[in-house]
Amino acid sequence: MKVDILAFAAHPDDVEISCSATIIKSIREENKKVAFVDLTQGELGTRGTAETLKQESEASAAFMGLSARVNLHLRDGFFVHDEDSLRKIIEQIRFFQPEIVLANSIYDRHPDHGRASKLVSEACFYAGLRKYETTLNGEKQTAHRPKAVYHYIQDRYVKPDFAVDVSNYVDDKMKALLSFKTQFFDPNSTEPKTPISGKDFTDFILARMREFGRPIGADYAEGFTVERLAGVRSLFDLI
Ligand SMILES: [Zn+2]
Repeated sequence: MKVDILAFAAHPDDVEISCSATIIKSIREENKKVAFVDLTQGELGTRGTAETLKQESEASAAFMGLSARVNLHLRDGFFVHDEDSLRKIIEQIRFFQPEIVLANSIYDRHPDHGRASKLVSEACFYAGLRKYETTLNGEKQTAHRPKAVYHYIQDRYVKPDFAVDVSNYVDDKMKALLSFKTQFFDPNSTEPKTPISGKDFTDFILARMREFGRPIGADYAEGFTVERLAGVRSLFDLI
């Protein structure tokens, strides 16, 4: 299956929190095919369970219009940077052959995010080495290196290298996010409070998009960092 964008996340709600408006815009406005690969089931999360997160991530995927959503079942909190983890990610990159890969923030409050970010970046490089052989479902895979890896920004502030105007997709982002009913603000929930379960968190998400929108002249934007110098085709490409 070939997709345009393959978005990786340490936990099933990371992409929804950070850049789901960009995803929804790419699918609805630009007709792009997008798939998600969640590295873990988020089984160590304070609220909900691996099973409820699975149902919620499927509901969110259906709402956004994803082509596929895969879970690699690495160990939440304790997945390691080794060949086994890299190979599982490389297999997905070669299977989906994306032009663009999205990965976790390079640095964040949750230590899994920075580790996942580095793992996915390295896997994108190794996926392009034809002498590193992998098979998936019994089929030998061909090498594929994505054209670009962009890191979304989640909890801690990271200065973005570019921002995407998502002003028309803020409500849809909130709908995708709130598919994760056990994780975010629900006044009737009896589960323990967490740093992301209060109304202040959804307010923060909106404020962050406002902050990234302001310098590009948009009402709302989502920011990304790049690993290589970002090029433009023309001086007039910037909005
Ligand atoms: Zn996370």
